[in-house]
Amino acid sequence: MKKIGMVGTGYVGLVTAACLAELGHRVVAYDTDRRKIGLLRKGEVPIFEPGLATLVSRNVGLGRLTFAANLDDAVADADAVFIAVGTPSRPTDGEADLSFVYEAAGEIAERLFHSCVVVCKSTVPVGTNREILQRLRLRRPTLAIEVASNPEFLREGSAISDFMQPDRVVIGTESEVAKQVLAGIYHPLGLTASKMLYTGLESAELIKYAANAFLATKLSYINEIADLCERVGANVSDVAAGVGLDKRIGPNFLQAGPGFGGSCFPKDTRALLSTARDAGVPLQIVAAVAGVNEQRKAAMAGRIVAALGGSVVDKVVTVLGVTFKPNTDDMREAPSLAIIPALQAAGASIRAHDPEGMEAAARHLTAIAWFDDAYHASVGADAIVILTEWDDYVGLDLARLKQLMRGRAFIDLRNVYNPDLVAAAGFEHFSVGRPASLVSEAAQDAAA
Ligand code: NAD
Repeated sequence: MKKIGMVGTGYVGLVTAACLAELGHRVVAYDTDRRKIGLLRKGEVPIFEPGLATLVSRNVGLGRLTFAANLDDAVADADAVFIAVGTPSRPTDGEADLSFVYEAAGEIAERLFHSCVVVCKSTVPVGTNREILQRLRLRRPTLAIEVASNPEFLREGSAISDFMQPDRVVIGTESEVAKQVLAGIYHPLGLTASKMLYTGLESAELIKYAANAFLATKLSYINEIADLCERVGANVSDVAAGVGLDKRIGPNFLQAGPGFGGSCFPKDTRALLSTARDAGVPLQIVAAVAGVNEQRKAAMAGRIVAALGGSVVDKVVTVLGVTFKPNTDDMREAPSLAIIPALQAAGASIRAHDPEGMEAAARHLTAIAWFDDAYHASVGADAIVILTEWDDYVGLDLARLKQLMRGRAFIDLRNVYNPDLVAAAGFEHFSVGRPASLVSEAAQDAAA
């Protein structure tokens, strides 16, 4: 059992803290956001992640997980202090904003009076961990402080199982002590040696970016193939299935849709491009992936307008799902943030529902009428748009929906529905990359 400090209790920090406590460690988690710590101390979990509330409450109850309002409690006696703060894109140049990471490292250094391993879980560009190490050693020259890069690969929506059954744990460090401490921390997971990957600092940092850029590449790739499918009469679902059955490729991240969003892929591709620019090594594939995705998100509003006959002035559009993917309330860079304002600017009024994301979305999107389920949201609508493939939208009563609406456009940007079923309920069906549901050529041209 180790004593662990967790700095940052966001999507990664809170899940990691709860999971490490579940493994038997004693974890003290700290955040500068006093509201979050206040909620956590009252037993409330500030984010939606399946299973997290139960895991947090269980480990708080067992005395293994506590939430601290000051950093001293998280750092005191810790064998390892994890940094899990945000690294958002800088709006000016797309580079990772490292101010939170360096601030956290500085604050940890102020409070360290014993030898300790500082572990960076935040996604940070190459060179950041070495800089953290230098800063810590400069501030505390007499202490044996070690640094390790331990990038996180969890996916929101399945974060707990991703943490508990990881494909791999990457530990980048030059320190034997850090290796031993981290091996001890992850030991209860019972991973085979091949899943524990020990590397240098720079390699660990780059593994995270290279992995995310590769997954983003699969998504932009299948989205472009979907466009081609529509033009040539192929079905992207069949094409993706046929491609994905090849073991060299695999079926994951081959679902065509409205473009990728979320807290990682967009910002991490931008940060990787920035690293590459600085290093004088152009990453042309990653640049194309990012460009294709931006264009795709922008084109989606045009598709919806086209499906409604070329104008949405005075039209009512019901949007089902606003989060960037199901099973999270995370709105960061969600396609809805590009699509909904574009529809509003074109004259549409928006009614919407999301099972978990409405509160977070209301902070970013304005002039939306929110409803507590898909049916209420669809009353009087000219079109329904499925933007996020929540389970709530998989088995909708299509006949009931159709009756509630004033129009008949059903725009399924996640290919959740069988086109024949939708058509049989009296809808005009549109989806992505499927022949039976093609946006007509004229409409596609209008949307382009
Ligand atoms: P987040 O925004 O949800 O949480 C970050 C937290 O850090 C916030 O609660 C913030 O208040 C806190 N914080 C900021 N500065 C602090 C400081 N000095 N001391 C203490 N707390 C501080 O971010 P996240 O989604 O959890 O991401 C964290 C890191 O993990 C990022 O680098 C991200 O790229 C990476 N990552 C995220 C995911 C994901 O799915 N969200 C997956 C893998 C990796």
